[in-house]
This record gives sequence, C-alpha cells and structure tokens, in this order.
Amino acid sequence: MASQTVLQKLEILADAAKYDASCASSGTAKKNSLGGKGIGSTEGMGICHAYAPDGRCISLLKILLTNHCVFDCHYCVNRKSSNVARARFTPQEVVDLTLAFYRRNYIEGLFLSSGIVKSSNHTMEQIVEVARILREEHDFRGYIHLKTIPEADPEIVHQAGLYADRVSINVELPTDSGLTRLAPDKDARQIEGAMGKVKSDLVEAKDARKRFKHAPRFAPAGQSTQMIVGADAATDVDIVGKASRLYDNFRLRRVYYSAFSPIPDASAVLPLKRPPLIREHRLYQSDWLMRFYGYKPTDVMQATEADGNLPLDIDPKLAWALKFREAFPVDVNRASKEQLLRVPGLGVKAVGKILASRRHRALRLDDVALLTQSITKVRPFIVTVDWRPITLTDRADLRSLLAPKTEQLELFAA
Ligand code: SF4
Repeated sequence: MASQTVLQKLEILADAAKYDASCASSGTAKKNSLGGKGIGSTEGMGICHAYAPDGRCISLLKILLTNHCVFDCHYCVNRKSSNVARARFTPQEVVDLTLAFYRRNYIEGLFLSSGIVKSSNHTMEQIVEVARILREEHDFRGYIHLKTIPEADPEIVHQAGLYADRVSINVELPTDSGLTRLAPDKDARQIEGAMGKVKSDLVEAKDARKRFKHAPRFAPAGQSTQMIVGADAATDVDIVGKASRLYDNFRLRRVYYSAFSPIPDASAVLPLKRPPLIREHRLYQSDWLMRFYGYKPTDVMQATEADGNLPLDIDPKLAWALKFREAFPVDVNRASKEQLLRVPGLGVKAVGKILASRRHRALRLDDVALLTQSITKVRPFIVTVDWRPITLTDRADLRSLLAPKTEQLELFAA
C-alpha cells in the first residue's frame, strides 16, 4: 500500500474518532466530519467541543492514534473485522498536528484515543508518549484528554494521568451481559478495576497537593466515561442505575451517553436502526437532575414508563412531577429550595432568584413568569400570592396540555 500523507491519515483518524462522545457537550447535532466543509461547522475535520473544568467551552483536536485494532467490538467501526480504510499516526505526527492547530488558534487542546495495536501496553505507551512530548518537550499548556485502555498496566495509565487534564475509560455498555455479547474481548471487572485505580490515584494526588505544594498533578479535570445507548436491550432504568453506581464508586466527573449509530459494515448482531436521538437527550437531562437538582437515581427511575424507559415527549422532571402530583402545588413564597427545584420549568438560576427576591416581597405569578421560558409549564405546580391552580394540577389531560406540540430538542432550562 502506498504510504499515506499526514492529511490522508488525519481524514481517516479524525473521522474514526467521531463515534466517541466522551469529550463532547450534549445536545449538539452530530455531523460527518469527513471533509470538514462548511462555514460554521462545529465539527470540522477532527475538531470537537468540550467543557473545561472552569466551564469554558473549548475546541479540541479529536483524533485516534490509529484505527487498527486487535479487538472485535461489534458496535465499533474500527473493530478487527471491519472493512474500513486504516491509518496510523506516530506519536510525533500527533504532536506536530496538535502544535500546528494550536498555533493557528484552531484548537485549545487535544482529545486522543486509539484502537489497540500489538498490545494494550504498547498502545497505552504510545498515547502517553504523545502527551509526554507535548508537555515536556514543548511545554504545551493546552487541555489534554487521554482515553485510557483498561487492559493496560496501571503504571502506564498512571503516567497518562500525570500529563493529561482528564482521563477516561469507556464502560461501553450499561450491562455486563451487553458487554459480553457485543464486546467479547472486554471485561467489565477489568474496566471497573481500572476506574477504581484512577480514582485512588486522583484521591492520593489531591491529598499530596494539600501537603506539598509541588506534588505532581494527576488528571486535575478528573475521569469520565461513555455508555452506548440503544445497541443492546438495556432500559433507561438500567442505564441510570449504572451511571449512578459509577458516579458513587469512582467519583466520575461525567458519564457521557452516546446513542448507538449504525456504522458502515455493521455486525449482524446490532440493531438496524439507531435509537431516537431524543433518548440520549432525556438521559442527559436525568443526569443533570441527579447532579444539580437533588434527584436520587430512584426518583429518575420512578419517572420512567412501564417499559423502563423515560418518556420521549416530555422531559424527566415533568414526567416525575406528573407522577407525583401530591407533591404540588408548592408555594413559591414559602417552599424550600429542594421543593422549588422539583417544579417543572424552574431552573437552578430561577430558583436562586426566587429565594433572593422573596426575602424582600411576596412574589406574584408575573414575577415568576419573568424567570421561566414557559409559565404555562410552571403554573399547574405553583402557588403565588395571586395564583392557585385549583383543579389544574389534578387534570387527567395535564400531560397533553404541557407536552411540546412539535418534536424538538428544547433547551434544558429546568
Ligand atoms: S477496543 Fe473495541 S471499541 Fe476500542 S477501537 Fe477496538 S474494536 Fe473499537
């Protein structure tokens, strides 16, 4: 085979990386990055967006070191048996590309993942080498997110954390049985063992830095993971349960959800159709409820329908409120912060403003209307000095009154 130019490799390896959602912000449209054409494209060749630990949205060069792989995960376009064009960067080529993009202001950091070549240790060493050259030889101060390989020696994974801002290990599928069926080379215990080791490295590094100012940093932006949604029969109850166990056990910063998307040359054991993208969005909303609104995993599970999945036509917060109407209406002038955060249509900022304003005066419905995108959604669930819903909260058709009329991804305001 004729040797490939760096640009040809970039086309293949940036496109191959697009299936990994674990550096992405939720809710963006997924576009084919191959070719990277079009003004304003958010996902040109190899560029993705992520949120830095300080909340800034940053652009990352998102590529694979190689899409050769000795594993055969059915859902993966890069699996051993897949008939796709292959390419492989050297660590130095990735370093040169990163620096060239960085100097042109195209990116503020690097997201690097890889198929497994030769062995897990060899691949992990190559990934670490990219970060080492960037940090030690070029004093690169940009953001680095390294995908780590659970089967690799923990000492090499530890090295990754010393250079990277964030490390991640994909759990891939919500259930062990799904993993066994669709990723036969992977082992759920090994994946969670690797996450546990990263967690203890994070804790140790944090303690050391409290005692010694110059103790080495270890993945200051923490660890994250990704779960594929819709490739197996796992329900949203399974997915939320798994995510909450991962948050509890491994102190993850984020669990990313990636709606399974049919890949070229797909394995016969996969579904033919992707799940609706709105399902991924509903899972992100439920994740948000657990991280910022005080919902427990069991609360989110209670919002699911008989099939164990969250409703698609309404958000999980509204679904919970409709199921537990006895918790409403809440008096915005007296209710606790926790009660207000349960009101559909009231976001964290709106609740903060309500708590601050009501110290000075009693709030009216118009005051609340200024804080929400839709007072129609809020009204059945609140009481103000001039408003009480009477029978509205209990109406049998309340769901159809409040469900969005057109199918769209609403901004997650509540
Ligand atoms: S290990 Fe599995 S998911 Fe990762 S690149 Fe190889 S085939 Fe794909």
